Amino acid sequence: MNAEIIAIGSELLTPFRQDTNSLYLTEKLNQLGVDVIFKTIVGDSRAHLTAAAHQALSRTDIVIFMGGLGPTEDDLTREAVADALGLGMHRDAELVASLERRFAARNMKMSPNNHKQADVITGAVVLPNANGTAPGQWISGKYEDREKIILLLPGPPHELKALFDQQCVERLRAKVPPLFIATRELKIAMMGESLCDARIAPIYKRYADVQTTILAGAGEIQLHLKTRSDSLEHAQQRVDDLVEKLEEELGDFVVSDNGDSLEQIVSYYLQMRNATVAVAESCTGGLLAERLTHISGSSRYFLGGAVVYSNQLKTAFADVPPAMIKRHGAVSREVAVALAEGIRKRCGTTFGIGITGVAGPTGGTAEKPVGLVFHALASEDGTEVVEKNFPGDRKRIRWFATQQALDMVRRKLK
Ligand code: ATP
Ligand code: MG
Repeated sequence: MNAEIIAIGSELLTPFRQDTNSLYLTEKLNQLGVDVIFKTIVGDSRAHLTAAAHQALSRTDIVIFMGGLGPTEDDLTREAVADALGLGMHRDAELVASLERRFAARNMKMSPNNHKQADVITGAVVLPNANGTAPGQWISGKYEDREKIILLLPGPPHELKALFDQQCVERLRAKVPPLFIATRELKIAMMGESLCDARIAPIYKRYADVQTTILAGAGEIQLHLKTRSDSLEHAQQRVDDLVEKLEEELGDFVVSDNGDSLEQIVSYYLQMRNATVAVAESCTGGLLAERLTHISGSSRYFLGGAVVYSNQLKTAFADVPPAMIKRHGAVSREVAVALAEGIRKRCGTTFGIGITGVAGPTGGTAEKPVGLVFHALASEDGTEVVEKNFPGDRKRIRWFATQQALDMVRRKLK
């Protein structure tokens, strides 16, 4: 079965508010084996809403409307859905009474416009709203001779979530043929998206029943795999098979196959080896330390380090010789090595990491352009350096640099 979610509210069409409810509902619907094939956002206009309702009802089995159930003039969902279904409405006396009790309990007088929240579309099941005044409605009805499930839910996220979880999930489960969903997630570090796709597309295309979604970020690709089947074993088997083949192809570019982040994997490896790490960061300004300490329990392997933005502090905190900086420049292979070795020695750690680069957008030169970053990893085996020219803006370049540094530790310990 498939579904369309319609978010209602003019504020959702401004730059200031986002429809987040549909993310929540999509996850819940997927778990029931329902695909969300359209999401629509409509402002508080009865005509637009009715048009959206017609369109949704003509193309999906389940249509969920959310928002616009309140007492004000611009809350028009009930009216528009009734219009689209060709149904009437009646004012439910029990609902009016319960609204009145709700207001009385708070020593408030109910204004007459609240009554319209007690309007129920003919044939609808009322879904009481424990967290707000507007109840939801469940309609099993026909549209152009086809069976449809139509849901009206309140817009405020905490009301919607509680109402959906407590009163809609089981009702839907009873209507939807049982389907099992299996998912896996692969994380791949420091590989370009197009190269990655060129290598894996021939593989995942053979698994037409598994939906493969590629999400590319700075220095990381996530592959989300999802399939559904009437047997859980079969669904799991299909995604597991595909994961195995993808891992074979991508080799050690694969960071994790269970959704773990790069810093989480680095954390496991460091703890397994009883190893420790310290950082001397220039252009990343502490972002690497942030990512390392983001993991709970990181005190077992992360000792600390320094943000050495100025040349002076590169010398003071990581013992980079001033003459070296003068000769090669602060952004250089030599200084990256000296940072890594200096901080390792100062902190007495198994590993020292040094990062220096040009994050931009200013400060680039022909010789040392924006995006040029040197990463060094010092250990008892010596020091390795990786030079990169990262694309993108300042934020992206800085993230790339931390990703590269973490990946060097991962590869070293693998
Ligand atoms: P009700 O059905 O209770 O009247 P409503 O959406 O019409 O709901 P509003 O006062 O318009 O009521 O919205 C209440 C709050 O819920 C607002 O902060 C609004 O931005 C938020 N909200 C509404 N729809 C969504 C959505 N789809 N995703 C996230 N927040 C939403
Ligand atoms: Mg609204």
